[in-house]
Formats: sequence, C-alpha cells, structure tokens
Amino acid sequence: MDSSKIEVLTRVVGADNVLIESYDLDRYSADALSPWRAFGAESAFEKLAEVVVRPGSVREVSEVVGLANEWRIPVIPYGGGTGVMGGVLPVEGGMVVDVKRLNRILSISPQDMTARVEAGVVLEDLYDALAEHGLMPGHDPYSVPIATVAGTISTNGVGYRASAFGPMGEQVAALEVVTPTGQVISTRAVPKNSTGPDLNRLFIGSEGVFGIITKATVKVFRKPEAEVFAAAGFDSFDDGFGAVGEMMALGIRPTLLDLTEEDGQVKLYLLFEGFREGVAANHLRTMQVCKEFGGKDIGPEPTLDYWEYRHESAENFKRTALDKPREVRWNRQRGRSFDYLHLALPISQVLEYRRRSETILAEHGARVVEYALWSRPELFSMMVVPSRSNDAGYRDRLGEGVARVLELAQDMGGIMEYCHGTGVKLNHLLARERGTSQDVIQSIKRALDPANIMNPGKLGL
Ligand SMILES: Cc1cc2nc3c(=O)[nH]c(=O)nc-3n(C[C@H](O)[C@H](O)[C@H](O)COP(=O)(O)OP(=O)(O)OC[C@H]3O[C@@H](n4cnc5c(N)ncnc54)[C@H](O)[C@@H]3O)c2cc1C
Repeated sequence: MDSSKIEVLTRVVGADNVLIESYDLDRYSADALSPWRAFGAESAFEKLAEVVVRPGSVREVSEVVGLANEWRIPVIPYGGGTGVMGGVLPVEGGMVVDVKRLNRILSISPQDMTARVEAGVVLEDLYDALAEHGLMPGHDPYSVPIATVAGTISTNGVGYRASAFGPMGEQVAALEVVTPTGQVISTRAVPKNSTGPDLNRLFIGSEGVFGIITKATVKVFRKPEAEVFAAAGFDSFDDGFGAVGEMMALGIRPTLLDLTEEDGQVKLYLLFEGFREGVAANHLRTMQVCKEFGGKDIGPEPTLDYWEYRHESAENFKRTALDKPREVRWNRQRGRSFDYLHLALPISQVLEYRRRSETILAEHGARVVEYALWSRPELFSMMVVPSRSNDAGYRDRLGEGVARVLELAQDMGGIMEYCHGTGVKLNHLLARERGTSQDVIQSIKRALDPANIMNPGKLGL
C-alpha cells in the first residue's frame, strides 16, 4: 500500500495502530484453518494483508472503512482470528481491521438481562464480568478463552449450552454496525419486533460481508440455582438418537446435550441447569426416557470430566498459535489428514444420512472416527480420516469424499455447516445449497457494498 495512504490511516488511528511489518501482515492473514485442511481452497492462502489497522472507537472504524471505500480497497474484519474456515483470509489482499481494541464492557443489566459490549470483547472476559453480578452468557463454545463477541456473532457459533440457550445468534438483542460505506447503524434491544425485518439477522452468521459489528447487546442469564450432571451409555447410536428425539419432542431442554460415538462407545453427556424443581423434574424424566431406549445411567462422572476440560483445546491454541505467524499455526496440523464436519438435517433424515455417507466415504478411502449430535438431534457431526494414509492420493480422495457427503446433506434437505461459517473452505458449495436465494443475498450485497470492499470472496460474494 502506498505511503500516502498509510499516512492518512495513521492520522486516524495513530502510528501504533497501523501495522505494515511483514511479521504482522503474515500473522493477521490467518485464522485456525491451515492449507492441509482446505481441500481445494489452497489458493486462498496466497495473498497477505497489505496493512493491519486497529481502530479504538466506532468513529475510527467508520473513518477507516469510509477511506477503504473511497480507495476501493478490501476490508477484512478480524476478531480473535480463531475461525476454522478461513473467514479472515485476505483473498484479495487489502486492509485487515482488527477490532480487539474495542474491548469495553459498557453496561450489564440484571433487570433487562442484557449486557452491552464492544465487538472485540473476548468471551472469557464477558464471563468474568458477568460472574460478578451472578450472571452468565448463553454461548459457551470450546473457544471461550480466545474468540470475540463479534466473531462468534459473525459465525453464529454453537457452544456447550446451546441446547437450552441456542447458538450465538440467539443471544443477540441489538447491534451497532459500520456498513461498507462507513455509515453507523444500530438496532434496539427488544426481544421481538413487528416494525419491519429484524436487521440483526442480516449480520448474524454473515462472516463480515455486510459490515463491521462494533457493539452488541447480548442476552445474559442468571447463574443457575441448581445443576445436575448426568450421563447415559447406549448400545448403539440409533438408540441414543431415539432418546434424544423423544426428549426434544417432550420439550426437555438440558443445558448440555452431546451424544457421541467414539471407539464403539455411545455416550450421552447431559447437564441440567436452572431452578431446583425444574432441574430435578427434567433430570428424572430424561433418565426414564434414556431407559426406554435401552440407555444405562452411567453416573455424572463422564460429564463432569468432559465439562471440566471443555476449554482445554482453546487454552492450548492460545498458548501455541494465537497471534502467531502462519507457519506456527499451520504446523499444528501439518501431516494430519482429517476433517470435522458439522451438518444440519431434518431429524427424520439423520440416521439415513449417516448410513449413506458411510458408504460414500468408504468409496473414497475414508472412515468416520467420531459421530456426534450437539445440542439438538438435527445437528450432526462427523470426524473423518483417511482409512489408510499411505495410499497414493489419499488426501485428494478424502477431500473429494468430504465434498460428496456435504452435497448429500444438501440433497437430503439439510445444510453443510451449522456452526463455523463457510469462510474460504466451503465457498465452492454455497451456490449449490442456496440456489436462487443466493441472488437475493447478492442483491443486498450490491446495495450495501457497491464497491465490494467488505470481506470479498466470502459467502460466495
Ligand atoms: C480450539 C478451538 C475451538 C473452537 N471451538 C468452537 C466451538 O466450540 N464452537 C464454535 O462455534 N466455534 C468454535 N471454534 C471456531 C471459532 O472459535 C469460532 O468460529 C468463533 O466464532 C470465531 O470468533 P473470532 O472472534 O475468533 O472470529 P474471527 O476468526 O476473527 O472471525 C470469524 C469471522 O467473523 C468475521 N468478523 C470478525 N469480527 C467481526 C466484526 N467485528 N464484525 C463483522 N465481522 C467480523 C471475520 O471476518 C470472519 O469472517 C473453535 C476454534 C478453535 C481454534
């Protein structure tokens, strides 16, 4: 980027907050996706950011975006940089806008049950601040220690408490956003409106293509009066699936619901939180339902253990990869061939999908080492690895097999990803999934971002 533009940016955000050293450009041109897991999207890693800007206020974000719009330079919103789909990769170069200096918790209201925070607040800091008021957020992903509020809104992430509280998008009461032309807009923190479309929804899960979120009002919850950890073992995934479906149909909503099949063992991890009587009744009825489907009560220990270590992988990422150069991040996955798929399907299709995808994967020299349902029976995950990693071309075949089973999810009425966004990794399959509705998204994009500067190359735009 030419020095006159750097000078202008420096006048807006200060010299310390305009980074142009190659070390910084490199580390800001990455998230947690490595080329080894990109399967066909490797070219998205070729470019580096030309400058990194770290604004300290909404006014500065607006000025910087306004300049980028005038200069026709791509802008890439950047939170924790922990996304796993390459959502922050500067595929066309340009300016990374790191929002982590916007890290104030502006207000907490136990009565409104909301907290108003700046975009770059890390979830862990929100947990700590709310705990002082006897409150907690509804979103509890593995990545609590490293992900930001706006990053998790922009991917509509799913966490451990999603069975009761829903994904991050459900936590949003209001947003302040800088649009691609630099205009600042905000919505109002009410739980329901009938005064036109809900604009929050335009930005939830949109991976920064429609603007930079600068503030969010999120729902918060009282810390539970009672909590009960439980676990059940099943002879088969199908039996556990039946139990989960029945729980949902009855209206039971544990905080944590995770049905996992690993090494031939099927376990349902459960946590009930809330007021005493509700927790006791939900626990009792759930264990009865599990028994009806052949489940055995295996006590709370498996879930207690699981719960205690749920943020461990993110602590590890924080120590070894966060804010580090790309090679350091990528080396964590070098030589490992696997993919972790998170699909959503109608409940009626999940088990049939599992059977059909097993066949497709086997035809591509791959197998599943872990199956899971997270928070709802529709949300189905598979960890896929090559059956033999010494066969010629095994990685390409794994990538091909993954693409085929993602397409199968689309063909069976579902979607290919429920939690991490599509970034650069799944871009090529989006048009197939969306059909003509992609034209509507394209029209909205053109209207809001006529110069196409905001995170270009993402969401098929
Ligand atoms: C160890 C580990 C564990 C994980 N566990 C989970 C998990 O349990 N559940 C889950 O859902 N995900 C998980 N993830 C993935 C990741 O943490 C989430 O995708 C998270 O939501 C990304 O937040 P971030 O702040 O790092 O966003 P980033 O990676 O910085 O950005 C993600 C996307 O949002 C956009 N964006 C960022 N900030 C803004 C903004 N202010 N305005 C507009 N757009 C913006 C970016 O351009 C990008 O497209 C995990 C990742 C790791 C490394």
